[in-house]
Parts: sequence; C-alpha cells; structure tokens
Amino acid sequence: MVEEEIEVDVDIKTTADKFHMFIRRSQHVPKATRYIKGCDLLEGEWGKVGSILLWKLVFDGEPRVSKDMIEVMDMEKNVIQLRVLEGPLMKEYKSFLKTMKVMNPKHGGPGSVVKWNMKYERINQKVDHPKRLLQFFVEVTKEIDQYLLKASFWFDFWTPLGPIIKLLGNTGPRDLTLPLTSKVAAACNSTGWSLPAPRSDAALSLHVHLTTQQLPSTNENDDYYCWETNGFSNTSFSSARTWDVLRPRHEEVTWVDPVWFKGAVPKHAFNMWVANLNRLPTRQRLASWGLNIPIDCCLCSAFEESRDHLFISCDFAAQIWTLVLSRIDHRRRSFCTWSELLSWTRLHSQEAPSILRKLVTQASVFHIWKQRNNALHNRLSISPQTIFRSIDREIKNTITSRRNRRPFNKLMALWLR
Ligand SMILES: [Zn+2]
Repeated sequence: MVEEEIEVDVDIKTTADKFHMFIRRSQHVPKATRYIKGCDLLEGEWGKVGSILLWKLVFDGEPRVSKDMIEVMDMEKNVIQLRVLEGPLMKEYKSFLKTMKVMNPKHGGPGSVVKWNMKYERINQKVDHPKRLLQFFVEVTKEIDQYLLKASFWFDFWTPLGPIIKLLGNTGPRDLTLPLTSKVAAACNSTGWSLPAPRSDAALSLHVHLTTQQLPSTNENDDYYCWETNGFSNTSFSSARTWDVLRPRHEEVTWVDPVWFKGAVPKHAFNMWVANLNRLPTRQRLASWGLNIPIDCCLCSAFEESRDHLFISCDFAAQIWTLVLSRIDHRRRSFCTWSELLSWTRLHSQEAPSILRKLVTQASVFHIWKQRNNALHNRLSISPQTIFRSIDREIKNTITSRRNRRPFNKLMALWLR
C-alpha cells in the first residue's frame, strides 16, 4: 500500500520553545500526563538523533509499549520526529512515522500550536487509519500543556520526593534562589536543571533524583530511567494521583526509614527506593508491559526474574546475604521475603545497629542489581564472593568518610569483626 498521512493541530497555552524543550526531555514527559507511564533510553543519548526510546503508554486504558527512534530533533523549528521500530503498531503498519511540530500561533498572541502528523503504510485495507492514536496525542498534548502551566516547583507532587517545600523546608526557596511562586519550568533552562549546589541531605536527594533522570545513561544508572517518575509521577495535573499510585501513603511509615536515612549513600538509597516501589525494570515487569523478552532471571536463569526473586530467593542473592549476615548477624543466614528484609533493617542489636543494617542492605541491593545489569548487558559473570568484596569495600569507604558523625564512629569495628 502507499504511504498515507493524517494530522491535527492542537492549540495550547504554553509557548512553543518551552513545550518543545519539555518534550525533547522525554524522560520527564511521564510526569506530565497519565497517558505516558515511562520512557526508557535504550540506546544513544536523551534527545539526540539516532537514539532509541521505549515508551510505556496507556492507550485505550491498556498498557502498551512503543520502541521509537529519534529521526529528527530540530531545536530551531521545534520539530521532533520519531520512527516506530517495534510495538503493537508494527503489526498493522509497515512503517509509522510520528512528527510533532510546535509553532507560534498564526495570528500572533500568546500560546502556540502543536501539529501532530502521522505518516504510515498500512499492511492492508482492513487496517484503520490511526485516528485514535492521533486523538491520543491530542489528549497527551493538552495534559502536558496543563502541567507546564500549573506545576508549582514548591507545592506540587512533581517528583516522588513529595512537595519540595516539605523536603527542603522554609529555607528552601532562599537556598535554591527560587521564589515560592516558581513553576517547575523555572528550575531548568535549555541545557538542564539549574539549581545551586546542594547544602543539605534533603537538597542532595533532590539533586540525586533530578540528575538520575537527566543524565545520559552510564553503566550503573542505565536501567533507572524506566522509572515512572519517574518517577516518578501525573494528570491534568493530578500528580497527587500518580503519587498515590507510586506510593500509597499508608505505607510510608514502613519503608521511609530503610530507604532515606541520614548518612545513606545517595545512589544506594535511590536504587533502594526504586527497588522498594518494585519499579526496577526486572524482566517480569518488562514482560508485563508487553515486551516480548525472556523472563528468566539474568543471574540464575532458573526462575522468573521478579524483584523478590532477584534480591531475595535467587541463589546468587542468597549467597551474598549469607556472606553479609556472617559479618553482622550470626543467627540468620537468609531472608524469605522483601518485607522480612525491610523489617530486619529496622531491628537494633549491640552487634548490628539499625544504621549498619540499612547501610549494608542498600549496598547489597545496589550491587546485586548492578551485577544483574552486568550479566544482562555485558554478559559478565562475577562470583558472589567477588561481589561481596565490592560491597565490603564500599561499606568500609562509606563508614570511613562519615567517621566523624556520631552514629558512624563505631560501625567500622562492628563491620570488621
Ligand atoms: Zn535468579
């Protein structure tokens, strides 16, 4: 069949530059609309031509994925073009190209016009024209517009950390030099987030969160992006609702403590936080999004790779826990469930104060996940004993660097016993 196209114009209140700037940071889009649950970077760099993105959408109320390649990213004309490589669309269309162009309104005045264009080749006459998909993009555009107009930097739930004003307290606006009336957009410019260096642990967690979303992937962070904010977070603009989805408030008391504590290593705490929400992209989760991938564990190949398998019952993880526990809790050799692990971190004993348990747990979870990614992406197989040595080294370094803080000054002796 021949190539056909349909298109639609959506009037929005956000300016063209700002809208385009937001969309091209695809990793942040899930925060602004309940129709997009996540965007992972599979190859390349965020916002760069040739990069490959994995969108997790909610289309007609159903989860759906689309693997797209960025073909055009024109910052002057505000154009983004995505070619669909894989996903349900490819069952009905031979080719599918989505183009978004943001223009100034024809008659001048505020706001802008978003033009969505779909160019496609149907596999046969029975396949419908993608009108519902076009309508989907209209809805998404409107929600993002609302989000960009409304989201308050200080008061909205635009990150999983909750309202920033609660996180940083009343001195926050002064520390970050952002007035209380600021919108989220005020915190970034065309090159990235523009916040001053963090001066507190809370400000640091905010930075950790933002930078994890922002930076191109490195080995370690590769898989974090999935994260529904990512994290993380979303409607017109019910970020509060997304927040509830991500983290029902009644659970707060049970896990906040093992995740964010004073003296935690930010990257470990962050990983723990995502793991605890069960939002790490384990193969079981990816498969539940409709990805056609094997679901067996990357470390043992014997069971389905769920969070609880990977970190608790997998033989690889079990060997790590046995080594860890042999140092600080001789009465125990393993854990049976994730919640049992969390409960254990809250216990306190002379030999193993809670803070040491949390430190060790976060480091272990981090390194198990890192090794899982190593096995998956680099086909690198490392023994649990070697991983434990890395965990051991990292814990010693952490304790050493915090030895002047009171809860940390006795930990080295306990860990080295
Ligand atoms: Zn396993």
